[in-house]
Amino acid sequence: MRIGIGYDVHAFAEGRALVLGGVSIPHHQGLAGHSDADVAAHAVMDALLGALREGDIGALFPDTDPTWKGADSLELLSQVAALVAERGFRIVDVDTVIACEVPKLAPFRDGMRSALASAMGVVAAQVGVKATTAEGLGFVGREEGVAAYAVALLEEEAQIPGS
Ligand code: MG
Repeated sequence: MRIGIGYDVHAFAEGRALVLGGVSIPHHQGLAGHSDADVAAHAVMDALLGALREGDIGALFPDTDPTWKGADSLELLSQVAALVAERGFRIVDVDTVIACEVPKLAPFRDGMRSALASAMGVVAAQVGVKATTAEGLGFVGREEGVAAYAVALLEEEAQIPGS
């Protein structure tokens, strides 16, 4: 078994779509970033890469590389999930927390679970999504941005003796 943790922050910005956990969420602001700035998907990717001991998304998808400009983070998450399989591991479980003062995320939680799960090739039962506010404290509380935390549990695929 391997565990990994991921954390990411993106600032709110005008004129951007808000995409969290692969779901487009109606809001008057989105998040600034080189890709679609899906902070939840980014935290999940870093949790998976952490468990794999394969660096982080900044190394894998550098924001200096125009290839990833405006990238769909679920597409990047699928690539990370493929790397997990390539390295001989299986995704057992993923859990996330999204810290966000506005908008309310509860109505979108199951949609995010399904979208993240499908990008990783697992079922929604293997993916948790929780939302919390920061009670008005710090950058989240001041509605300046969104933070996301994720943990991932991987299991090494059994080696068949003699193979
Ligand atoms: Mg990010």
